[in-house]
Amino acid sequence: MVMNYVLKTLLALMVTTTMVAQNNTSYWQQKVDYEMEIDMDVETYQYDGKQKLVYTNNSPETLDRVFYHLYFNAFQPGSEMDVRSKTIADPDGRVGDRISKLSPSEIGYIKPSKLTQDGKKLEYEVVGTVLEVTLNKPIQPGESSTFKMEWEAQVPVQIRRSGRNNEEGVALSMTQWYPKMAEYDFQGWHADPYIGREFHSVWGDFDVKLTIDADYTVGGTGYLQNPEEVGHGYGPKGLKNMKPKNGKYTWHFKAPNVHDFTWAADDEYIHDTYEGPNGVTLHFLYKNNPEIIENWKNLQPKTAELMKFFNEHIGEYPYKQYSVIQGGDGGMEYGMCTLITGERKFGSLVGVTAHELAHSWFQFLLATNEAKHEWMDEGFTSYISARAMNEVMDENSPNPFSGSYRGYNYLATSGQEQPLSTHADRYATNRNYGISAYSKGAVFMAQLGYVIGEENLQKTLNRYFDEWAFKHPTPNDFIRVAEKVSGFELDWYLTDFTQTTNTIDYGIKGIETAGNTTTITLERIGLMPMPIDLYVTYEDGSEEIFHMPLQMARAEKANPYPNMKWTVLPDWAWAYPTYDFEISNGKTVKTMMIDATNRMADINPENNSWGMDSE
Ligand SMILES: [Zn+2]
Repeated sequence: MVMNYVLKTLLALMVTTTMVAQNNTSYWQQKVDYEMEIDMDVETYQYDGKQKLVYTNNSPETLDRVFYHLYFNAFQPGSEMDVRSKTIADPDGRVGDRISKLSPSEIGYIKPSKLTQDGKKLEYEVVGTVLEVTLNKPIQPGESSTFKMEWEAQVPVQIRRSGRNNEEGVALSMTQWYPKMAEYDFQGWHADPYIGREFHSVWGDFDVKLTIDADYTVGGTGYLQNPEEVGHGYGPKGLKNMKPKNGKYTWHFKAPNVHDFTWAADDEYIHDTYEGPNGVTLHFLYKNNPEIIENWKNLQPKTAELMKFFNEHIGEYPYKQYSVIQGGDGGMEYGMCTLITGERKFGSLVGVTAHELAHSWFQFLLATNEAKHEWMDEGFTSYISARAMNEVMDENSPNPFSGSYRGYNYLATSGQEQPLSTHADRYATNRNYGISAYSKGAVFMAQLGYVIGEENLQKTLNRYFDEWAFKHPTPNDFIRVAEKVSGFELDWYLTDFTQTTNTIDYGIKGIETAGNTTTITLERIGLMPMPIDLYVTYEDGSEEIFHMPLQMARAEKANPYPNMKWTVLPDWAWAYPTYDFEISNGKTVKTMMIDATNRMADINPENNSWGMDSE
């Protein structure tokens, strides 16, 4: 018995060791191939759907269950999304208690009526926004299985993102509208209930046929396969569409290598196309509303410029099409398209397009699990879209991220901050989520430029795209790229800034002059380590930057200001609360300032300068 037990334990240990090693050293991801057909009734806002889904298990584990998301079920009184919105301290004004007031003809639902695996009927249970399925036949590593589902659905009155007849009068904003296989990755299943934000989905190919009234123009994910049939501004100019059947057209779309499929439809859409960079066709679909037409025309060249900026500063947009669609609620990113509100001032219209288009990189192509790492989604997007807007709109701000720094500073000093590693749904307040994901996430990136240098940061972004597009990168994957590019050790940066609420506070403690020597003492007050750039001006008008590398980073950055004197001092080891150095060049120090660029998110800037008020 004992022998047997020991042997079993040893075997179990060996298996576990192999699995762990595999997770740490080799990357895999699941694959889905969807074929869907739906028939939309634009009077009742109901549709019937059919789906054939080929699921390939590339994981090293055998799967005996699968999960689908049924997102529309969130729009029902008493759903988790409804209750969360009514019980959170600062509800999103767009949701509030609106879900609780939906009547049966206004709610959203997806009701599966049939589900088979490889032709055999399956048992399943609808649990809120998730369909739990026990498989008849487990899917072995490397094997594929074919699921067929039929369902009935009702499009909810628009509450957030999805829905019908929103405030701007868009008939159908069809986002997260189909039974969607949950993602399974090295961290297991992610059958997150839909409480209102963030997604993580399986990469694959989509083939979708939408049958809808012939008056409706459709835009969204995927390349239209039959423009000669439906017309509506697709295909070459002057193309005549065919006669509809029973007043309807069937729109056939294919989208290769995406992890979502979204569409919108309206019978009053104007549909323009514009030539973007690298032969990408940009589509613009917006309501025929005289007040917005001029803005939507002027948006088109700006969108092309924005795409060019992202191509250069992250990586080349790999699809041949992108659509900016008036969806009528906020702004949200989807595969090969975005749905935004259209009745905006021009700057705001370009701004929201910049942000949502940037999401095509963060998190569409660089598809992090945004429920777990919302800051890599919203933060990285806020960072790069601020840079893009600064250039495309000629804003020329020396610090386009200053709003993000202010937001972070507010939260970090409020006593309410939660670590960035918090699940997107589990922030105490919507405000905490918003500032953490958008502002602190942007600061993470902008401040990394201060740590490793802007040139290294730019190289990091390009290499991150090259290595991780069309995959599911984690925070560690990102920081490893930054480490490899820069030669810095950066786990302290990732850990402290994303997994703790440690803050940065360095200060100038004192200055003493004896004879020809000035001794300067700096202090570290906050727990988070940082390298220090100290900008010094002398009475004779000259200037010099003293750089104190952080010892645990095991590297030092290049001079970011080649036209200024740059003096690298010995490392500052983190545990030492103070740091002294001497200036004995015969000059008299006039002023001093830690990080004159304001890229280091020091929560107390008061003690960062010396001698400045005398000016
Ligand atoms: Zn965003």
